[in-house]
Amino acid sequence: MIDQGNIPFLDLVTPHVELEDRLCEVFKKALRSAGFVGGSMVEEFEREFATYCDSQYCAGVGSGTDALRFALLGAGVTPGTIVITVPNTFIATTEAISQAGARPAFVDVDEHSYNMDPEALREYLETQCELGGSNDRTIHKETGETVAAVVPVHLYGQMANMDAILELADRYNLVVVEDACQAHGAQYFSEKAGRWRVAGSMGRAAAFSFYPGKNLGACGEAGAVTTNDPELAARVRMMRDHGQARKYFHDCEGYNGRLDAIQAGILKIKLQHLAEWNAKRQTNAARYRELLDSPQGVLRLPYEPSWSKAVHHLYVVQVENRDQFQQDMAEAGIGTGIHYPVPLHLQKAYGKLGYGLGDFPVAEAAASRIISLPMYPGLGADQQRRVAEYALRSVARTADRQSEFAPSMAYGGEYPGAAAYLSGNAAEVSGR
Ligand SMILES: *Cc1c(COP(=O)(O)O)cnc(C)c1O
Repeated sequence: MIDQGNIPFLDLVTPHVELEDRLCEVFKKALRSAGFVGGSMVEEFEREFATYCDSQYCAGVGSGTDALRFALLGAGVTPGTIVITVPNTFIATTEAISQAGARPAFVDVDEHSYNMDPEALREYLETQCELGGSNDRTIHKETGETVAAVVPVHLYGQMANMDAILELADRYNLVVVEDACQAHGAQYFSEKAGRWRVAGSMGRAAAFSFYPGKNLGACGEAGAVTTNDPELAARVRMMRDHGQARKYFHDCEGYNGRLDAIQAGILKIKLQHLAEWNAKRQTNAARYRELLDSPQGVLRLPYEPSWSKAVHHLYVVQVENRDQFQQDMAEAGIGTGIHYPVPLHLQKAYGKLGYGLGDFPVAEAAASRIISLPMYPGLGADQQRRVAEYALRSVARTADRQSEFAPSMAYGGEYPGAAAYLSGNAAEVSGR
């Protein structure tokens, strides 16, 4: 399974080997009944995942991207509108917005949590938009487009500051769709509700991905939408199945975006272990915090507000010399990742949106310094000690080099990775 010498960024083999017999039973059951699409395995998983997410309804779909697209369409996002999200997320968030016919608009993130900064959302709504029109919609002043929705992304397994976002959404009549693709089981203490609430239960709808590397992963592609709105749930069920309310009676054009029975059966078994796996991730995050608490403070650790119980999908730190750090770790046999090297507003795919370097300084600054360390339930204490040892050694060497050559080098706004990317020199871009 894991080569003793090397520490992979992610271990997807061990949990499946441990569950091999039960997972193979799912496959055999499907073979014997030829129930490959839909059926009881899908319905059972949907019921159990809805319960896990403290939601009334769950609709299994083909991927997290499907889930986002169907949730937005089901929530009433129409072509020609604006949907607000953050620039530091996986592109599926904005692909789904565009595929729903809307235009993604970005607001910057909070520098500590990497999640949507409610103040940036407020500023966008107060300065660029106005509440008006006949139907009390929010209108973008410059373009006249209606602002339809906001998609907070619970990045790295930590929920966005939902009370503040929901309050603004309420004031400006925006639908909230949570991108919970990295946050299965994450919790948020809602002052408004006076209790802890779980990811996927706070927006009008939420999208989950069960891509293999997620906290709850299928053995292939899968996703789900959760909601408390019965009509939204019905629309998602129709959309995932060619707009059929009944076989061959198409109320609208839809998509082929169903959840496979085999994947649902696998997810049902793995769901029984999710709480335990998340707890192990939390233990590992706490251990990293102890091990990496460097006196120089040059390694910035993840920040978890008192209102958050993160499930640490990724363990993301910031270092000054990220490329050197990644190389040092690779030489020590330690896998790392960068999530993500280029914020979406600087991607070529979004050149047409008209954003530029400097528009979202917090997301841009983070993108040049973040690096994800190995994080998964089976990561052992000894492995973490080795990761920490090499990580601290690398940042200490960076500090030495800097005191020699540039004693006052501080965190600045420079972003060489994106500059290289935009000038077409992709090979220079970090993380590629
Ligand atoms: C994984 C992910 C998605 C997309 O999920 P797929 O199942 O790969 O389509 C969307 N948003 C975020 C934040 C993700 O991490």
